[in-house]
Amino acid sequence: MVFLKMADVILLVTCSIREKAEQTIWNRLRQLKALKTKRPRSRVPLRIGILGCMAERLKGEILNREKMVDLLAGPDAYRDLPRLLAVVESGQQAANVLLSLDETYADIMPVQTSPSATSAFVSIMRGCDNMCSYCIVPFTRGRERSRPVASILDEVRKLSEQGVKEVTLLGQNVNSFRDNSEVQFNNAVSTNLSRGFTTNYKTKQGGLRFSHLLDQVSRIDPEMRIRFTSPHPKDFPDEVLQLIQERHNICKQIHLPAQSGSNRVLDAMRRGYSREAYVALVHHIRDCIPGVSLSSDFITGFCGETEDDHLQTVSLLREVQYNTGFLFAYSMRQKTRAYHRLKDDVPEEVKLRRLEELITVFREEASKANETSVGHTQLVLVEGFSKRSSTDLCGRNDANLKVVFPDAEVEDVTNSGQKVRAQPGDYVLVKITSASSQTLKGHVLCRTTMKDSSVYCLT
Ligand code: SF4
Repeated sequence: MVFLKMADVILLVTCSIREKAEQTIWNRLRQLKALKTKRPRSRVPLRIGILGCMAERLKGEILNREKMVDLLAGPDAYRDLPRLLAVVESGQQAANVLLSLDETYADIMPVQTSPSATSAFVSIMRGCDNMCSYCIVPFTRGRERSRPVASILDEVRKLSEQGVKEVTLLGQNVNSFRDNSEVQFNNAVSTNLSRGFTTNYKTKQGGLRFSHLLDQVSRIDPEMRIRFTSPHPKDFPDEVLQLIQERHNICKQIHLPAQSGSNRVLDAMRRGYSREAYVALVHHIRDCIPGVSLSSDFITGFCGETEDDHLQTVSLLREVQYNTGFLFAYSMRQKTRAYHRLKDDVPEEVKLRRLEELITVFREEASKANETSVGHTQLVLVEGFSKRSSTDLCGRNDANLKVVFPDAEVEDVTNSGQKVRAQPGDYVLVKITSASSQTLKGHVLCRTTMKDSSVYCLT
């Protein structure tokens, strides 16, 4: 609040995927309204702007309902911010919510606000062409387009020079990455389309694909971990799976959003696969990458979901036994295909009851899956002190699970066995002694490097 009181311009970055996210912004706007009204006349007026998907989706409503909002900038209009702010300075409202077919912000290098950050996100593509029937992303973020490979590699190199140890490649449909700005080659990459997956759009050709990008990114710094999210199950060719298996610094962790375990609901969602095709892919991934950690997204109470559909989702959670899950109750979004063609007919209390059931089942299964780590030694990237205890450190393992362990003096195998205390950004080996659905606990053995650790982590 202190920083808010000092600010002359406040920009809220927004998301429209779920109603709850928008509600948070409406509540925040009410707080800011009070701040703006109470502002002393001796200071310059406080300017408030809304950036991102909500600006795109609700432009008219925001400007009319919240008169104190001065500026709106959609997800593709951030370059226009200086002009928009200049218009606002002259006392008028300013808005640009135009979507672009090619904006990727490729030439804009993000500033790391925390110089000691151990990890960073790198945006590699924007928008989505999949048109799942419940999803607003294609309408607020626009058509799918990928950032040129060269500019992504440039950003990752800079992050490596700054000491960042973990990079997550980001996109709405990250593994359908296709850089068409380069000479066309690498066309022969296979897809999952022959394995029972379909697309809602015409098959695209050419360009540099995700496997090429992942390969190049992982070569920049052997001590930098690479993750990616969020992928779509239809875009997991064997080239990508082999690369994950072979390359020591690409995390053996795959997010595989299922959304439902019922074929009827998957069809209504237009996900482009059946439960059987999805499960076959899970087996294939586990065959290619032994020990891989899996996470997923699920929606409860989608239009027309029956109790039997729900039970099929429960059984999918039991069958796959994910390590991590992101579970939500459905909220209908305007503009989507479901809004125009389907009925949001599952009562709210039923959605929430089903959500609770899924959470319970997910936790039981994740606990079992995570239990298999007990007794093993894992490589952990230290993030800092645990929020619950200043005598414990916490970090993330390869599967992106939180690992907590006592802060103790350990041998540094990279420096003749000297005694050290682990610091944020260090890799340490931790022997796991207990596990829950969300956290592992253990004791630290030594400080190491990612390359050296592969020998010990086999135990
Ligand atoms: S793939 Fe993801 S982002 Fe794209 S439409 Fe489907 S749910 Fe939305």
